[in-house]
Amino acid sequence: MSNIVAIVGRPNVGKSTFFNRLVESRQAIVNETAGVTRDRNYGKSLWNGKEFSVIDTGGYVVNSDDVFEGEIRKQVALAIEEADVIMFVVDVEGGITDLDQAVSNILRRVEKPVFLVVNKVDNNQRVMEANEFYALGLGDKLYPISGMNGSGTGDLLDDVVAAF
Ligand code: GDP
Ligand code: MG
Repeated sequence: MSNIVAIVGRPNVGKSTFFNRLVESRQAIVNETAGVTRDRNYGKSLWNGKEFSVIDTGGYVVNSDDVFEGEIRKQVALAIEEADVIMFVVDVEGGITDLDQAVSNILRRVEKPVFLVVNKVDNNQRVMEANEFYALGLGDKLYPISGMNGSGTGDLLDDVVAAF
């Protein structure tokens, strides 16, 4: 297998919404409540003539901060193992959280390409707010997108498929 993209990030940032857009189906479960995606979801996508597989990491998340962090760490470890490229999704509405920092600390040391995706950038005003996530120290490029309305996703996917 090759060309595998994993979507990682804390609960409720919009991973499954974006996954659904990528695979153009409703394979992932989206819910208002944090951590509702029940399992890992696998789908196929196509961009610029390149096929790739997408993994939506969700996992079973128990509502305790300790388990949360352990669960996210497990997700990220699996993603690093399985994927060729990692999309790390954060949420412009929520800003930088401790979990975002924890994930960043892991991803900073990963040798595979990591794309920092700032989701919920539904309008131009939020593009400026997205710049706050440079503070995560994951490089000099980030991708403001709206998984909901699709804005910014084309530029992101151009660079993702170029990384294969
Ligand atoms: P996950 O836990 O990371 O998989 O997040 P979900 O995809 O389940 O989404 C969590 C919540 O964020 C849901 O209420 C979504 O409707 C909402 N959401 C997801 N993407 C966007 C977006 O681009 N913009 C806005 N405004 N809300 C979004
Ligand atoms: Mg989900």
